[in-house]
Amino acid sequence: MLHTLSIGELGESLSSRRLSSVELTRHFLARIERLNPALNALITLTGDRALAAAAAADARRASGEKGPLLGIPLIHKDIFCTDGVRTSCGSRMLDNFVSPYDATVVTRLKAAGAVMLGKANMDEFAMGSSNETSYYGPVKNPWDLTKVPGGSSGGSAAAMAARLAAYTTGTDTGGSIRQPAALTGVTGIKPTYGRVSRYGMIAFASSLDQAGVFARSAADAAVVLQAMAGFDPKDSTSIDAPVPDYHASLNAPLAGLKIGLLREFFEGLEARNAALIHDALKIYRSLGAETVEVSLPHLPMSVPTYYVVAPAECSSNLSRFDGVRFGYRCSEPKDLLDLYTRSRGEGFGAEVKRRIMTGTYVLSAGYFDAYYLKAQKVRRLITDDFRAAFAQVDLLIGPTTPTPAFAIGAKIDDPVTMYLNDIYTIGANLAGLPAMSLPCGFVDELPMGLQLIGPHFSEAKLLNAAHRFQESTDWHRRSPRGYE
Ligand code: GLN
Repeated sequence: MLHTLSIGELGESLSSRRLSSVELTRHFLARIERLNPALNALITLTGDRALAAAAAADARRASGEKGPLLGIPLIHKDIFCTDGVRTSCGSRMLDNFVSPYDATVVTRLKAAGAVMLGKANMDEFAMGSSNETSYYGPVKNPWDLTKVPGGSSGGSAAAMAARLAAYTTGTDTGGSIRQPAALTGVTGIKPTYGRVSRYGMIAFASSLDQAGVFARSAADAAVVLQAMAGFDPKDSTSIDAPVPDYHASLNAPLAGLKIGLLREFFEGLEARNAALIHDALKIYRSLGAETVEVSLPHLPMSVPTYYVVAPAECSSNLSRFDGVRFGYRCSEPKDLLDLYTRSRGEGFGAEVKRRIMTGTYVLSAGYFDAYYLKAQKVRRLITDDFRAAFAQVDLLIGPTTPTPAFAIGAKIDDPVTMYLNDIYTIGANLAGLPAMSLPCGFVDELPMGLQLIGPHFSEAKLLNAAHRFQESTDWHRRSPRGYE
C-alpha cells in the first residue's frame, strides 16, 4: 500500500526504480477521486499538472539526480500562491484568482521535485478552527464524517489523515496546523516565526502567520521542513540563520532533557485528556527526560490578546481586496463606493467580516490605546513568560486542544466558544515559538494531540523529541477506518 509508506520508504522505492513517480502520483490521484467526495478536503485538483511533474521527476531521477522529495506527491493549502493555478484562500473573494506566481514555499518544494496533486480546502482566509467558514463548504473528519477536522488548515489535515498525499502543507497563525493535526490524528509542525518564508502566502495576521507541515510522522515532517525552511530576501521578516540538518538529530538520546509541564494548561483539563498527556510523560521519563512543572502566569490572556492583534492585522491586510485590482467584483456597481461595499460585502463571509470589523474598531482613534496597544503589551508579557520558562526547561509539553473533534455545526454560531479551541496553541504564535502536535491517544474514539513547544529555532530538538516518542508509540500509525 503506497500511501502507508513513509517519505523515506517512498524515496527508496523511487531511487531503486521499483516505483515511478507517475505510478505513485496515479495511486494518490485515484485515492483522491475515490475518497475526497465524502471529505471535501480539496478545492482544486491538478491531476494533469501532477502527472507532468511526476514524469519530469522520473526523468530527473533517471539522469542521476537524487533528493528525498523528488517525485513525492503533496497537497498545498490553498493559501499558498501557485503559478497558473487558482488560489482561493477558501474565499469567494478569490474564487476566480489564478495566481501569476509561486509562493516561496511552493518554489522551494517544486525545486526539490515535489509533485502537487491539488489545493486543500481551508477556513476562509485562514480564519476559523473547524473549516466551516470555507466558501467551498466544510471539510469532514475522516475519523467521523459528522465531525469537523479542525481549522483553518482542515483540508490539509483531513487529506493527511486519509492518506491522500505523502504530506501536506499548512499555515498556523493561532493554531491552524496543530489544532487540526490533533483532531485528525496526524503530526503537525509550526516552525519559529521567520523560519519559513511568508512570501506568496496570503496574509492573515502578518506578525503571527507561519507555514508548516502535516505528515505521517515527525521523521517525515523533518524532511519536508528541511526543504521549506531558510532565508528569503522577499520576506522582510524571514530570518537569515543557517538551517540545521533536522534529520541528523532525530535519533539523539533524550537523557537529561528537561520537559516543563505547563501548569496553566492542566487547570480545568478534562481527566481523560490529562491522562493521555500523563501517559506521554511516562514515556518521556522512560527515555531519560526529566519533567518539572512550570507556570506561565500570563498565558491565560493569550486568547483575548490574539483576538485583538490578529483582527487588527487582518483588517489592514484584507483592505487590498477592493474589487478593483483582482478578485471578486460585484455586478453593475452604481458608483465607486457601491463597487467597494458590494464587492466586499458579497465577496467575504461572515467570520471574515466579523474580524475586519473588530480589527478596524481596535485600531480606531480613541480605542487604539485601550485595545491594540494594551494587547501588544500583554503579548510582550506572554513572550517574557515563555523566555523565563525556557531558562529552566528545554521544551514545554501539554495538550493541543481541550476536546477531540466536535460535530459539524456545533460551534459555528458561537464565535467565542469557537475561539476557545485555540486556547493551548495561541501562546506559541504570540511569542513566535516553534511547536508541534503529535497523536497521543483517543478520547471517544477520536484522536487527541500532544503539544510540544520549544524556544526559538529549536525545531531540531522538537522533531527529535517527537521522533523518539513515535518510536515508542504507534498512535501516529493508526488510520481511520476505510482509509487504511
Ligand atoms: N483558529 C484561529 C483563528 O481563527 C487560528 C487560525 C489560524 O491559525 N490561521 O484565528
